[in-house]
Amino acid sequence: MKIAVTSLVEGENPFHFDSQKEDWLKELITHLTKEGYQFKSPLIVDANLTKVDPDFYLRGKLKFSVDQTCARCAEQFPLNVNSPFEIALANVPSGKLRSPELAEESEELDINFFEGHEIDLNPIITEQFFLSIPYQSLCKPDCLGICQQCGTNLNSKMCQCAEKKSITPFSVLQEMKLFKQE
Ligand SMILES: [Zn+2]
Ligand SMILES: [Zn+2]
Repeated sequence: MKIAVTSLVEGENPFHFDSQKEDWLKELITHLTKEGYQFKSPLIVDANLTKVDPDFYLRGKLKFSVDQTCARCAEQFPLNVNSPFEIALANVPSGKLRSPELAEESEELDINFFEGHEIDLNPIITEQFFLSIPYQSLCKPDCLGICQQCGTNLNSKMCQCAEKKSITPFSVLQEMKLFKQE
């Protein structure tokens, strides 16, 4: 999705994109699905592109739901994301975009540069998608995880491993008895 700079008015330019209606967002979802992301909802982008000569600011929100694997219990669950973002955009003369000095400046000042007369939303939204997904997703904040010994999902039931671990002379004897019976 390319937004022509000349189509923008001074001040705020609100946008609302819904992957159910926008082909470029449908394509983005197809691309992300190929990378392993299972979408459970449409992808919604609400944004406001503010023009303050000579620069632009993009402020918005990304809303979607994707399947994630819990980092503790390994269960799949739908992660609901509603993530705000804020980006400063500055225009550069064409051909300058890939210069190393610019890349450095972009990182230091947290500015995205664009060439020519169009702001391409695809790379911006793709980047924000990845930034909005936590490094480790949890199915719930107090997920109990799985037992390291028997693999029981401790969210659904408790296992006996913690009790077994405490070795008493009696428990040793019991294990020996079991062993002999085999
Ligand atoms: Zn979990
Ligand atoms: Zn266990």
